[in-house]
Amino acid sequence: MFDSTKITFADLGLSEECVAHLAEIGYEHPSPIQEKFLPPALKGTDCLGQSQTGTGKTAAFMLPILEKIGDSEQDPQGLVLCPTRELSEQVAQEAKKICHFKDIEIAVVVGGRPIRNQVQHLERGVDIVVGTPGRIIDLHKRRNLSFDNLKTVVLDEADRMLDIGFRPDMEYILKRCPKKRQTLLLSATIPEEISRIARQFMDSPQHIDVSAENVVTQTVDQFYCTVDEHKKFALLVKLLSKEKPKQVIVFCRTKRKADQIYNRLSTRLPSVAALHGDLPQTKRDRVMKNFREGHVRLLVATDIVGRGIDVGGISHIINFDIPEHSDDYVHRIGRAGRLSSEFLGKAFTLVTKEQGPELTRIEMLVNRMIPEYQVD
Ligand code: AMP
Repeated sequence: MFDSTKITFADLGLSEECVAHLAEIGYEHPSPIQEKFLPPALKGTDCLGQSQTGTGKTAAFMLPILEKIGDSEQDPQGLVLCPTRELSEQVAQEAKKICHFKDIEIAVVVGGRPIRNQVQHLERGVDIVVGTPGRIIDLHKRRNLSFDNLKTVVLDEADRMLDIGFRPDMEYILKRCPKKRQTLLLSATIPEEISRIARQFMDSPQHIDVSAENVVTQTVDQFYCTVDEHKKFALLVKLLSKEKPKQVIVFCRTKRKADQIYNRLSTRLPSVAALHGDLPQTKRDRVMKNFREGHVRLLVATDIVGRGIDVGGISHIINFDIPEHSDDYVHRIGRAGRLSSEFLGKAFTLVTKEQGPELTRIEMLVNRMIPEYQVD
């Protein structure tokens, strides 16, 4: 998969047993972010990595945590903050895969699920905690989650955490972590606010930027369609019947819109589901499971939950609404350009005449002209 590089994991300073385990799970060569991030991170340097989801960044921050974990500690030694529940789950799944050769206990602590099970899990003793900031703070205040022994703190998708309004929570947590610790920050973009957090809470961080090497926008065929707002739904139906996607995510800007589109589509098509932040967690989990297993073929989603979904079979992304923030465009279409998929994904963005400048901003961001797709 990453055989363009001759570098191996052994060259990056990982232990022998770790390299052997990575080979077992099919990680032969490091991805670009892993290749650049791991050497300083394994030395204990604070690192600020600029990279999107789907580029192998979970292993980039998880392996340094893993190599530092001592045997005898009771309290968690690694803490990973994620913006959403889904992403926390995904990071934990990937972490479990990577850590399998060691006796490591990983807990996921997220809102929307019973706190009691999470408390019990923490009481049994865990090495790494992955979760969303709100629940992490709750558990810390209740004295169920100690920060005292943390050796590594990771802020994953830090830009998205800021977007959601987690800044005070992130600061609350970082202020209470041990001074002597390693902080790793991963973010697709580095706006001024991220730089400020880095200056305030990180120790001379090394900036690792592989965003230009991100293949996502090159591995997805992108098109836009000009359409009047009231004709969007008809166009969506036409695109679906023409393209016959294997699996598709239809992105909407708002939860209400996502529900509306879902309601209209589900009367016409089988295997349709909606995913947005207003749904109860159990429902969200069920939808994600069904999507991952291929029972759901068409998912109508909003950005918050759509980001970071790592499902190999997604062939198409349809931006029913052009994303509000251009960065989200890359995240959305990245869902169809996963490392694990062997085919070229396709992305269609429905654009009204007034939204021309928004399309131009996206074109500048992905550094290419997106061709128009003509539908009768
Ligand atoms: P991530 O960006 O961490 O969500 O990773 C995206 C996908 O790439 C996951 O399915 C990983 O298991 C896979 N992956 C990450 N690093 C490697 C690697 N070095 N070799 C092969 N697959 C990888």
